Amino acid sequence: MEQKTQSLPAKKNIALVAHDGKKAALKLWCDKHKNTLSKHTLYGTGTTGHLIQKSTGLDVVQLLSGPMGGDQQLGAKIAEHEIHVLIFFWDPLASQPHDPDVKALLRLAAVWNIPVACNEVSADMLLSSPLMENELERTLPDYEKYLATRQISL
Ligand code: PGA
Repeated sequence: MEQKTQSLPAKKNIALVAHDGKKAALKLWCDKHKNTLSKHTLYGTGTTGHLIQKSTGLDVVQLLSGPMGGDQQLGAKIAEHEIHVLIFFWDPLASQPHDPDVKALLRLAAVWNIPVACNEVSADMLLSSPLMENELERTLPDYEKYLATRQISL
């Protein structure tokens, strides 16, 4: 599929997700970056979003819990260009009942070329980038062009 370019806005919609074994780490990370995070709009899967809102006081748009469909909701929002950054502390030492959803979320983040961090150090680097506060150009699949030019043989 051909690609096109599109900007991610200066004020970004950031998704926060942490598996149970990583929720404490994400909470600490959000405390550390509260000031920067407050300049953006936060989304979270149910339990993560609730925990972060309660512990930091930051507003978080809370979706369903991950295993109940929250990861899929985030994936859909990435595909619809509503989520611009994914901070996903997945637990590499625990198996998850919703592993297919976890894979799908990471896959859609790659398809739509949004910045993703899966651990504290990557998330630190991502948030300290000057691009967090500025528009950022990305390439992404040109689906409209694909549809317009696609030949369907029946
Ligand atoms: P939770 O979901 O925030 O509802 O715990 C996280 C996940 O496992 O995707």
